[in-house]
Amino acid sequence: MRLFQKYFCAIAISLWAVSPGNARLLVAPTLHIKAEADGGRVALTLDACGGRTDTRILSALVENKIPATIFVTGIWLKHNAAAVEIMRAHPELFELENHGGRHVPAVDTPQKIYGIRSAGSPQAVLAEVESGAAALAVTGEPAPKWFRGATAEYSPSAIAMIRKLGFKIAGFSINGDGGSLLGAKETARRIAAAKDGDVIIAHINQPTHAAGEGVVQGLLALKAKGLTFVRLDDADGIGDEGTTD
Ligand SMILES: [Zn+2]
Repeated sequence: MRLFQKYFCAIAISLWAVSPGNARLLVAPTLHIKAEADGGRVALTLDACGGRTDTRILSALVENKIPATIFVTGIWLKHNAAAVEIMRAHPELFELENHGGRHVPAVDTPQKIYGIRSAGSPQAVLAEVESGAAALAVTGEPAPKWFRGATAEYSPSAIAMIRKLGFKIAGFSINGDGGSLLGAKETARRIAAAKDGDVIIAHINQPTHAAGEGVVQGLLALKAKGLTFVRLDDADGIGDEGTTD
């Protein structure tokens, strides 16, 4: 159970998991990209929180030439060298960005978000962001420009700190897989419903979950509809809560 909690990227399925007192203090920013291409374009973002690699998704992205922005943690990088090698072999498809060093939420007061203990202090938020960037630097990747914290919820003061470090903060507009806990059918339905300008979030670190199959189905449906996929670096991301401006 503890392992499950540690590696589980819980993204808002509903707000009940945050106690009412905390819910007021935390924000879950949204992100959209500028809509402009014929037929529409969307940004696919995939979190690699910890654990392993969902090769169903990774293979589908390579085979179908679907670009994606992957948010990786230091923990995940350490244990998934083969997947990193595949991503680095396709720089035209994969942009690697910062999901933190240890996958602790970027919240500078002590609390639990979806069962995960927050960083708990400004210093710990700083350490989480900087150690994530340092872990990416070791792989030889270009310096990350985007940060997404574990659980994708933040205290407003942490958002200001992270912006000062020079990172944009990656919210999303479509919660594709409900923290990788949704079934394949519902995941496919949510992703296939993406429209021009949407930023999709899902997970690439849960190979045993049914959601991964749905991610692939949803992406193929979008591609069949003629939508274009872009990485965050190739699009103008517009976030709320002071995350990009
Ligand atoms: Zn995560």
